[in-house]
Amino acid sequence: MNMWSYQMYFSGGQEHFEYDPWGGRGSAATQRSYPYLESLLSFLELDCAQVEGQLQDILTCWNRFFSTGDSTHGDEAMAKMGELAARHIYFQLPYLQWFTHKAAGTLAPEMTEELLQLLEQLPVYQRQAQAFIEVVLDIDRAGRDTQRSMSGQYRINEPDAPALFQFQAISVGFGSIGEEMCGSILQPNTIRDLIDFSLRECVTSGTSVRRCRNCGRYFPLTGRVTAEYCERPNADRKPCRNTGAVQKWTENRKDDAVFKEYRREYKRHFAWIRAGKLSAEEFADWSKRAQAKKKDCEDGKISLDDLKTWMKNS
Ligand SMILES: [Zn+2]
Repeated sequence: MNMWSYQMYFSGGQEHFEYDPWGGRGSAATQRSYPYLESLLSFLELDCAQVEGQLQDILTCWNRFFSTGDSTHGDEAMAKMGELAARHIYFQLPYLQWFTHKAAGTLAPEMTEELLQLLEQLPVYQRQAQAFIEVVLDIDRAGRDTQRSMSGQYRINEPDAPALFQFQAISVGFGSIGEEMCGSILQPNTIRDLIDFSLRECVTSGTSVRRCRNCGRYFPLTGRVTAEYCERPNADRKPCRNTGAVQKWTENRKDDAVFKEYRREYKRHFAWIRAGKLSAEEFADWSKRAQAKKKDCEDGKISLDDLKTWMKNS
């Protein structure tokens, strides 16, 4: 049995992580919650080159530690692993594994092999998960039926096609997940397990994703399937769902203003026919040109002021 514990589950429209270096001893665990699917989506957006650089540094420290036995190198390696864990919750897992072995005095040089593998695998996992999202979960490309999309993809492609994410056996328990709820709880051994669990959660729960019209990032469709703007955390901007809605409102307002302008001039010109200032043919000709100008304005080719000036002088 592992001394450490790390678990992940979905509950109440969120994803939850609990980890504890001394899980086997029953001490209080650290709990972190994120919006649904946020860990996977933000993993896809990680700069792999930067993470690889950090992992290389960590490996260098561990190699120095194992070759010299000098504990300052081990401490430095742990500090760097902590920085990586702060960058993304997935990296909390290797941190926890190394932390526990270091504290128990059971570190072994063979453990660096796993870090070396991770270095190679991270970009592969990123590509495979990205591809999976595009062909199975993207509602605008794959449709709404995630089960059908997935079985279709995995039937036409070779089961071990390298482009597709490889689902494997993962360690999933069952138990209490929040108040008065029970469900599947992942006990991951590797970062791959976390990706695997998140992707299968989407397929089994039928959750699609869409690219946000404002920021271009994928977001899970947990509410209305027609949602176009994400609610994902943004470092320094307002949530897209608010910004996007305001933009749309402004666009509608602009269209209203254009239509109002057109209608007023239409009435004015129409009245001229009755007053004998304009023939019916002249009016029809004006109307055609006015409609074209109105469309130019709606398409943003000319400004509302340009339209007003044209209308006034026509
Ligand atoms: Zn967005």
